[in-house]
Amino acid sequence: MAEMNPGGFTPAPAMRDQLETRRRLLRSVPGLRDRGDVRALLSEVDAALARLDDGSFGACDRCHESIEVDRLNADPLIRFCLDCLTDKQSRALERDLELASAIQVRLLPPSNVRENGWEIGYRYLPAGPVSGDYCDVLPADDPSKPMHILLGDVSGKGVAASILMANLQAIFRSLIPLDLPLQLLVEQANRLFNGSTLPESYATIIVGRLHPTGSLEIVNAGHPAPVLVHEGEAAELPATGVPLGLFQDARYETRRFDLDNDDLLFLYSDGLSEARNSEDQLFGSRRVEAAVVSSGATGVEGVLGSCLDEMAEYCGGSRDDDVTLLAVSRVAR
Ligand SMILES: [Zn+2]
Repeated sequence: MAEMNPGGFTPAPAMRDQLETRRRLLRSVPGLRDRGDVRALLSEVDAALARLDDGSFGACDRCHESIEVDRLNADPLIRFCLDCLTDKQSRALERDLELASAIQVRLLPPSNVRENGWEIGYRYLPAGPVSGDYCDVLPADDPSKPMHILLGDVSGKGVAASILMANLQAIFRSLIPLDLPLQLLVEQANRLFNGSTLPESYATIIVGRLHPTGSLEIVNAGHPAPVLVHEGEAAELPATGVPLGLFQDARYETRRFDLDNDDLLFLYSDGLSEARNSEDQLFGSRRVEAAVVSSGATGVEGVLGSCLDEMAEYCGGSRDDDVTLLAVSRVAR
């Protein structure tokens, strides 16, 4: 999801609290505060607080341009923009990114799942080494129980967004085995996510529960409406609640559908609908829907391939946001 305020950086009040908490913690552990590395950290925290006081926080020490917002959110102690890193710092950052990227790939579900009369496939395409999109498929541990599909998008980009994405996955993977009603599952996840993010962070997400009987339950927390194709006709499933992380006590509604064989549900992140062509026009949700309907008969893998082909053709292959697609079809057992 693109950053809402890509220009300057206005530090959230929580940034100061966070730094002051770190300072208190560093000072409070006996035996630690005299260690050289801890003293160095303390002086970095003090310097960041001083930059908050004099208004220079977020400006690069070398070129005085703004430091990238997602990097500052991930580490308020950094003092240089990406363009001004030394070779040694660049190499360290590259190694960190390679590792983060490898970890994120390992968090992904199996690429195609066929179970209990459902087929699920997805495509996960980060714009950079790591992504703020979240995609998950959780098969049931018992064939009488439902499977879960999740597709979400965390605010911001890059490393900070990917950390939030991993947090969101851990929250849902811990809550799903509790067998809560779907709206309560999402409400609980919202409370946990809200308590663990910065005030300006949020995530849109769709959570679907696929029962072995063919019935589908779905909650859409502020995410672009998925497309449901039933008997060749498409319908959009609009939001049933606000994005996660904004309000502690947000409420969500569950919608229910009974799917027949070959019905198809298509979820996507805004990297698809907001892809732009050379004239800066959006791909748009209408084109997404048309692409899904026209390729609906080709099954899960056919629809995923067609949508990506149409997007690539539309924007000439250039892309600057994470794109994630997930398709679910009811299939004969
Ligand atoms: Zn700089």
